[in-house]
Amino acid sequence: TAGHVNWDVTLALDRLPRPDGEARIRAQYQAGGGSAANVAVALTGLDVSTGVLGSVGDDENGLLVRRELDAAAVDIDGLVTVPDAATSVKYLLTAEDGEVAVLGNDGVNEAIGPDDVNPDRVRRADHLHLTSQRPETAARLAEIAAEAGVTVSFDPGRRAPDRDFSRTFEIADLVFCNDREAAAVGGIEDSLGDHCTLVVKRGGDGAAAVSAEATRRHPGFGVDPVDTSGAGDAFAAGFLAAWLDDADAKRALAVGNACGALAAERTGARTSPSWGEIETLLAGRRDADG
Ligand code: ADP
Repeated sequence: TAGHVNWDVTLALDRLPRPDGEARIRAQYQAGGGSAANVAVALTGLDVSTGVLGSVGDDENGLLVRRELDAAAVDIDGLVTVPDAATSVKYLLTAEDGEVAVLGNDGVNEAIGPDDVNPDRVRRADHLHLTSQRPETAARLAEIAAEAGVTVSFDPGRRAPDRDFSRTFEIADLVFCNDREAAAVGGIEDSLGDHCTLVVKRGGDGAAAVSAEATRRHPGFGVDPVDTSGAGDAFAAGFLAAWLDDADAKRALAVGNACGALAAERTGARTSPSWGEIETLLAGRRDADG
């Protein structure tokens, strides 16, 4: 599919260490990804049943995405195959310290328009988690959810600064962003509804949850990062699993950080931490908990 894409460096490559001589690639592999799909797989692993709404192309990569999600017990009935289109392909370059740069295209990733989703799929859910998306689609799905009493979370990813997501920000109960995105968006807090909790992921420093009532922080778990790709998605899954189970912000942050740390310790953008691993990490740090 490389011939069809417009390459776009989505994270600063200069954050990666530059080898003096030739680059040494230790390993390469191919796997399904995408923020929403990663969150869905991790949530399913935490006993939350999930389905994805999204789009793939009618190619081998699209089949790979389907097969992997299906194997992870994620409902893929809402996954649309777009005819004559190529599935989005990203290259994730991971450095020795776990830092990641992403190259690639958005391909058919954002093919879904506001009227392409059966509203009943949204209404039947307990919760809707939105990731980078066409703003009009995100807003429409958020509206359908809110009207049906379905809670909404939103992780706009790196797109937040260039697109007008104000309607979705206004509706969302939870907004996830990392500290770089929070700085880039600047006025993000002004767009949020009074009921919204802004959850800021802070890499090795953990995360914070900011609501109208309080700001809570959790320092994170000290691990040796191997590959931080997908750490934010694992974090979101952990936070959501706890939050949907009526946990308070402190516990949701701790569970999210445990999942993010477990993901950072492992190769691959899609990790599925278990409750056993999470509780072990939480128990070991109980005294140092902030
Ligand atoms: P994103 O991956 O969305 O850019 P972060 O880099 O902040 O977001 O990582 C998401 C979460 O993963 C963090 O909030 C933290 O819980 C965990 N995490 C990421 N990097 C590390 C690390 N080096 N050590 C421990 N936890 C980490």
